[in-house]
Amino acid sequence: MAKADFYDLLGVGREATEAEMKKAYRKQAVKYHPDKNPGDAAAEEKFKEISHAYEVLKDPQKRAAYDRYGHAVFEGGGGGPGGPDGMGGGGGFHDPFDIFREVFGGGGGGGGGGGGGIFEDMFGGGRGGGSQEGADLRYDLEITLVDAAKGVEKELSFRKVMACERCKGSGAEPGSRRVTCPTCGGVGQVRRSGGIITFRQTCPTCAGSGSKIEKVCTHCRGEGREAKTAKINVRIPAGVDTGSRLRSVGNGEAGLAGGQPGDLYIVLTVKDHEIFERQGQDLFCEIPIKFTLAVLGGTIEVPTLFGKASLKIPAGTQSGTKFRLRSKGMPSLRGGAQGAQIVQMHVEVPKKLTDEQRKLLEQFALVSGDADQPTEEGWFEKAKKFF
Ligand SMILES: [Zn+2]
Ligand SMILES: [Zn+2]
Repeated sequence: MAKADFYDLLGVGREATEAEMKKAYRKQAVKYHPDKNPGDAAAEEKFKEISHAYEVLKDPQKRAAYDRYGHAVFEGGGGGPGGPDGMGGGGGFHDPFDIFREVFGGGGGGGGGGGGGIFEDMFGGGRGGGSQEGADLRYDLEITLVDAAKGVEKELSFRKVMACERCKGSGAEPGSRRVTCPTCGGVGQVRRSGGIITFRQTCPTCAGSGSKIEKVCTHCRGEGREAKTAKINVRIPAGVDTGSRLRSVGNGEAGLAGGQPGDLYIVLTVKDHEIFERQGQDLFCEIPIKFTLAVLGGTIEVPTLFGKASLKIPAGTQSGTKFRLRSKGMPSLRGGAQGAQIVQMHVEVPKKLTDEQRKLLEQFALVSGDADQPTEEGWFEKAKKFF
């Protein structure tokens, strides 16, 4: 539902002065006050709306924000995906990959500087104090089909911006404290005047935090981070496919001046295999068999990604026949049933025969009463029509 315009709620124009607004609010508040409208839920709701509208408009900063951005400015949190799992980064020994999971679609990060959005910028609230979230990183990783089927542990090595070792990411020289910002006196904003209006601006010295570092870290000059080669171990779960995206929380770039680190996104490519072709969760392969085996039947050994399997070939198997080896395909990433391996027979017809083989086959043909026509039942009958 669209929200009513705050000015409309109070019944004033956009140019209304503070005094006019106060007067209008009183008038409306009296009209809709619950005491005056006992049991009237609609009136009560309206009263709340009016109070909220006045709450916003009586504050020049909030009013300016509302004028500029509308209701959106009061819509909570927002920001990018961020995620609730703020753990990750914080040193220690916990494996950041227990929160490892596959992420679908949607490009990571997303512009917005996270957190409370406009309000924080405008009103200098600033929890971090000039801190800023670290960037998300992307790592393209190629793995084999066997690794994709069984899962694998990989060591990734890449350059990234990490927390400065000297100041542990705070940007402050060890032993130094945060002191009240001398520019704004701790308010986080400075006043500027432009003609008849004065307006406030986020303090340029402390970026709105109201405090600054007494002595900046000599190693990173206050940034709290430095570029280094990172090495991390990642566990790729069984069942991934080309295009799978894995997110490692907190393994992106370090935040600025103590801000939260970004995440690392690992984008997978599964290399083609020389025997198996992936078809969704199934693995397809073609296997050549001797024509005698196809005729007489027997058992063969078939390679699978999980070792050899034996396959019974019934007598009279035709070229092109497919057999399914259950549970020899790709595992499901989400704990579903494992795919199958599909084996297609390719019956090989010998190209060269020894004299003895020829003699035996000719004898076979004779015994079978084979003429030089195709012999499949019915085929000859159908073909007659064309002669
Ligand atoms: Zn430092
Ligand atoms: Zn300041």
